[in-house]
Amino acid sequence: MKPVTAASIIRKQTYGVAVKNGNNAVCIGNNAPVVVQSMTNTDTSDIEATVVQVRELAKAGSELVRVTVNTPEAAKAIPAIREQLDQSGCDVPLVGDFHYNGHLLLTQFPECAQALSKYRINPGNVGQGVKRDVHFAEMISVACRYDKPVRIGVNWGSLDQGLLERLMDENSWRMDPWPVKSVMYEALVSSAIESADKAVELGLPKDHIVLSCKVSDVQDLVAVYRELSCRCQYALHLGLTEAGGGSKGIVASVAALSVLLQEGIGDTIRISLTPGPGEARTREVIVAQELLQTMGMRSFVPLVVSCPGCGRTSSDLFQKLAAHTQDFLREQMPFWKRRFPGVEKMSVAVMGCIVNGPGESRHANIGISLPGSGESPAVPVFVDGKKVTTLRGDNIAGQFQEIILEYVETRYGNGY
Ligand code: SF4
Repeated sequence: MKPVTAASIIRKQTYGVAVKNGNNAVCIGNNAPVVVQSMTNTDTSDIEATVVQVRELAKAGSELVRVTVNTPEAAKAIPAIREQLDQSGCDVPLVGDFHYNGHLLLTQFPECAQALSKYRINPGNVGQGVKRDVHFAEMISVACRYDKPVRIGVNWGSLDQGLLERLMDENSWRMDPWPVKSVMYEALVSSAIESADKAVELGLPKDHIVLSCKVSDVQDLVAVYRELSCRCQYALHLGLTEAGGGSKGIVASVAALSVLLQEGIGDTIRISLTPGPGEARTREVIVAQELLQTMGMRSFVPLVVSCPGCGRTSSDLFQKLAAHTQDFLREQMPFWKRRFPGVEKMSVAVMGCIVNGPGESRHANIGISLPGSGESPAVPVFVDGKKVTTLRGDNIAGQFQEIILEYVETRYGNGY
């Protein structure tokens, strides 16, 4: 059987879109690594809260951060948010999310338009009838003036009703009408592509356009993006909208996006999760990174391989060690990234007993196999496939952490 790796995925060729802030240019499309992005949920006019959250998201690994720009107060806040981020060393590009009044805010607040690195435009709510085209043209004109890319983001919940009615009418004249759902798919895809083509006619280069067609059902999303990808070469932003929260939101998003990514579709992703009370907004960034990393498409943080545990697991030490080790690895990354290039590809195994423990541990860079019930209280540690030591006593976690630190220094530091 032929081995399957992420390298065997043939990515759909799309135009490369550079989203820039200062010296930081994030490329979406044209075979660039799939970009992780997220969105704040603060009131954008609250500059302090928004700066804090953008920094948290960027620190977690969000390569672009979108912020709501819905009022004059929010638009006025954007330059100050940008300035404070830059002053604190956070150069993540900001994307402005516009609905209904984007044409007004972008034209009345030029400093906002300049400070943003990209605009998200929803063609379903830029206006009705003739006004729709006028407002859309105003937003594209601002994008051209300041050389900003745009995302034309169509959404199932705010689909252009005029277009949908037209397609429904056309469908009724067919000898063999399409199912209603097919007409809805067509409306989403047509809205995105027609709007993008209109933007090009208005002077925006094709490599300044990203498209998305978000829906909330997994199968619908796969069908719509397959069609969209077939019919255009614009860079694509993937995301399941209204995915929900908790495990449901994660599973639904990952199910939809992994099918598309495996088919080479998608240049940037957002996992839209409803945070639970008190849950960090950064969860969606971690899920997006883990999706790309577990598919072998990108590496961000060394990931822990651990078994699920079973009746052979003798205590909760194994669960605690697995969770503690993953947290420890993630916390180290901001520092490690600069000092130890390649460390993000390191794999660490934390296993619960002798059945699969030594075998799985040997496959990882570093592995530890805890004793199951009835096994001697000795903990073998494996480094690059070889058993190097056996840990005993009350401080297994601390000793294991020391071994990881030493390995990282030796393997990924200059001394290697
Ligand atoms: S490695 Fe051992 S503890 Fe873990 S699931 Fe397998 S049998 Fe159970």
